[in-house]
Amino acid sequence: MNAIAATFTQAWAGLTHRQFAYTQSVPFAVDAKFAHDTNAQLDTRNLNVYINGAQILKDVNVSIPKNKITCIIGPSGCGKSTLLRTFNRLNDRVEGLKMNGEVNLGKSNILAANSSKLSELRRNIGLVPQRPCPLPMSIYDNVAYGCRIHGIHNKKKLDSIVQHYLKAVGLWDEVKDRLKSPAAKLSGGQQQRLCLARSLAVEPSYLLADESTSALDPISSKKVEQLFTELKKDYSIVMVTHTLRQALRIADHVIFMYLGEVIEEGSADQVFKHPQHELTKKYLNGAFS
Ligand code: ADP
Repeated sequence: MNAIAATFTQAWAGLTHRQFAYTQSVPFAVDAKFAHDTNAQLDTRNLNVYINGAQILKDVNVSIPKNKITCIIGPSGCGKSTLLRTFNRLNDRVEGLKMNGEVNLGKSNILAANSSKLSELRRNIGLVPQRPCPLPMSIYDNVAYGCRIHGIHNKKKLDSIVQHYLKAVGLWDEVKDRLKSPAAKLSGGQQQRLCLARSLAVEPSYLLADESTSALDPISSKKVEQLFTELKKDYSIVMVTHTLRQALRIADHVIFMYLGEVIEEGSADQVFKHPQHELTKKYLNGAFS
């Protein structure tokens, strides 16, 4: 197994028993929505992150609202990606990294989870990568990959899952006649939507997106933005974006960071129209970026 596949195997180790049971027992209805039975709230308490002794996140307390798009904004290097990556412990492999405080999914502190518990927690927190990174296999196999890892091998069920999620990301009509062709042959925008389908197929409640449109052309980027807006009825989305304009377009909830601290957090209306902090006002006015 190559390194990319290994990463996804780890990230998907927690395919939900809900999906598993569902696909085992019910003929898969293509347009049926998976029930998200978790109301677990994602938040941080007094979260501190250090890399080689330098403090990267400082006493961060944020709460991610359900079924909304939360945008983490702030100048480059302020800790946006680091914060996003603590939500499913993707920073673990960073050399010299230390964390304290809490990242809670419901009653479980993700920071305290051992590896088996972690995969269970991660099942609810999917990641859409920054750059499209299809696995070196067919379009079909990319979407089915996580399901197969968790024991779903029935062709009819897999066919339905693949179709369902390719439809969910608006890719079905573009690829239905070439499902067996390599994913690498798709355009960048199509690959990013395929990656999104792959993330959705393991049925997370939260979707983390780290500048997921930054590598895309404007039209593909718009499509992914539209998708996020549609998906929020079923998922809670946390996005890092360095494009203030993007946040203005799609954010419901905003976290503004500066030098590792959360300066302001609130509804998009509140933060964008009535910022409380001088730094937020300056950032919104373009005084720094
Ligand atoms: P942002 O996403 O806001 O651009 P990051 O979270 O990527 O910021 O980085 C925050 C700070 O942490 C930066 O100063 C960056 O240099 C530092 N940092 C991030 N990752 C590493 C790493 N692996 N090793 C050392 N420093 C890092």
